[in-house]
Amino acid sequence: MNKENTSSRLPVMSGKRALTSSTDGEQQQPAQKKMRKVDAEPPRFKPAASVAPPRRPVAIKAPVKPLRPTGAATVAFAPSRGDHKRPIAAIAKATAGSGVSRRPGWDLKGKVSDMEAKVQTYQSKVKSVNQENDSLKDSISKAQKREFEIREECNRIKKRLGDCEEELVKLATVRDDLEQTSKERDGLKKDLNKLTEEHKVLEGLRDHLESELRNVQTQLSIQTSALGRCQDSLKECQEMVRNLEETVVRQREELHFGEMERRKLHNTIQELKGNIRVFCRVRPLLTGNQSDILHIQLPAHDNKALTLAKVEESHTGRTADTQKSYNFSFDRVFGPRATQNEVFEEISLLVQSALDGYNVCCFAYGQTGSGKTFTMEGGEMEDMWGVIPRAVQQIFKSAKALCEQGWEYTFTASFVEIYNETLQDLLYTGKPNKRLEHEIRKVSNTEITVTNLTYQKVNNEDEVHNLIMLANQNRSTARTCMNDHSSRSHSVFQLDIEGENSDRDTKCKSILCLVDLAGSERVQKSQSQGERFKEMTAINSSLTNLGIVIAALANKDSFVPYRNSKLTYLLQNCLGGNSKTLMFVNISPEEESFSESLNSLRFASKVNDCVIGTASANRK
Ligand code: ADP
Ligand code: MG
Repeated sequence: MNKENTSSRLPVMSGKRALTSSTDGEQQQPAQKKMRKVDAEPPRFKPAASVAPPRRPVAIKAPVKPLRPTGAATVAFAPSRGDHKRPIAAIAKATAGSGVSRRPGWDLKGKVSDMEAKVQTYQSKVKSVNQENDSLKDSISKAQKREFEIREECNRIKKRLGDCEEELVKLATVRDDLEQTSKERDGLKKDLNKLTEEHKVLEGLRDHLESELRNVQTQLSIQTSALGRCQDSLKECQEMVRNLEETVVRQREELHFGEMERRKLHNTIQELKGNIRVFCRVRPLLTGNQSDILHIQLPAHDNKALTLAKVEESHTGRTADTQKSYNFSFDRVFGPRATQNEVFEEISLLVQSALDGYNVCCFAYGQTGSGKTFTMEGGEMEDMWGVIPRAVQQIFKSAKALCEQGWEYTFTASFVEIYNETLQDLLYTGKPNKRLEHEIRKVSNTEITVTNLTYQKVNNEDEVHNLIMLANQNRSTARTCMNDHSSRSHSVFQLDIEGENSDRDTKCKSILCLVDLAGSERVQKSQSQGERFKEMTAINSSLTNLGIVIAALANKDSFVPYRNSKLTYLLQNCLGGNSKTLMFVNISPEEESFSESLNSLRFASKVNDCVIGTASANRK
């Protein structure tokens, strides 16, 4: 770089152009062209970018910055420190002014010499400017070369940049891929962690299962050996079971024969006790102290005896009063304190006979109010139950027990009322005006049936209780129509029992008959007329006939007058043959009932005497 070239800032004068152009030659052509341009236009500075050498690669696309008009040479080609030269104009000024003061107008010579000095100065100045111009041209060509190189470099860089950008794009894709992959890797890591955890758990489980398996295997081997032992003992057991089965069959056989034997023996006992039995029951006083019953004496040591005693006053008053006593003895006498349960205990043996296949008939005889209905039906509470509900309970209970021995029972209930020698169905549920008439028919030697009567199959005691309630309802409606109708009618509850033991091909059929008789009180002939008289006659005749029939049966008479009354005709199957008959004679404890009680006891006694006769005959 030329020092002089860089130090000048003066504009190039157009008149001096020929001086430099001849020396520059062909190589200076571009510079000359520029110089011409300079001539045509007012002198101005060129943009420094065109001459300034690029120190480092700059952005290619950026527009070229124009240089400040402070002289490109100073900026672009600044001389090294210390070589700074003062500008030429300053020098000229200094030269022109040095030692010369302003000349007066007339000093033309002086002025000419000044001008010549100035011209000289300018000429040297032009020379230095030309030199400077040359050096600038040189610099320009260098700069252009440099520019070219820079452009080349720039293009290369551009290309490289393009490559880099491409690569960057590729790398961005790769980075995205990498990010995706790392995300996937993270996910997989998580999965792996999870799986590792699971694996650990499963390993733990496997270990546990393996140890369990070992235990089970140990147990299995123990069980297998135990099984072997069990199989051995099973064989033994099977053998034993076979033996036991044989024993069971044998014992069943024995049991059956035992049961049949029991029935026979039971029957024998009942026969020995008498197929016809009479029990007496004294009702307690409904008010007052039981010890006030003086005319009825019950010996403490004998539960079969009863004495009815009465003091008769002397008619004349001259002789002392005499005490008349009437002794009676029955199969059993129940005092006023006897409970329903005590009473039933005696009858339960007969109920058992009914299940064993024997007909059983139980009557309650006595004057109205003596306790017949109480004895037969009793009260609502279970401990107040009378013979009928207790008998029904026992029968169903025993039937259930006999079921295990192969017995199957069917039960049919009927409830009939006999009033004035006409029958009425107490289980009737139809309209009152649609009631049909009933007739007693003898179907066979062992079977009696009543036409149009309800025969209701019953399976348990509840059903029987419901039927008894229905009968009571039917009776109570009748009671409202006729004054105390029930005391003047007989009510007959009948349970037909059929048993079958199909294993043994054995059957049994029996009837349990429980009868609440009409009041036995005698009504004075003079007091009874019309309907009442008819009633009384009917009751009297049927009760008398019952006595006659029982006596005939007890005497084993060839003819028994069953047909004389509806009651005996209906009950003929329950009364004859192997049937068991029990008669309750109910006594009222009041003194005013003395004569009625006496009559009842006499009637019962007559029956009992016959029976005792038979019993003793049996004993022989
Ligand atoms: P019947 O049927 O002979 O006319 P009931 O059985 O109706 O007589 O008895 C008449 C009254 O005496 C009823 O109130 C009854 O509850 C009561 N009764 C009868 N016998 C007894 C007894 N053994 N214990 C307690 N009360 C009785
Ligand atoms: Mg009654």
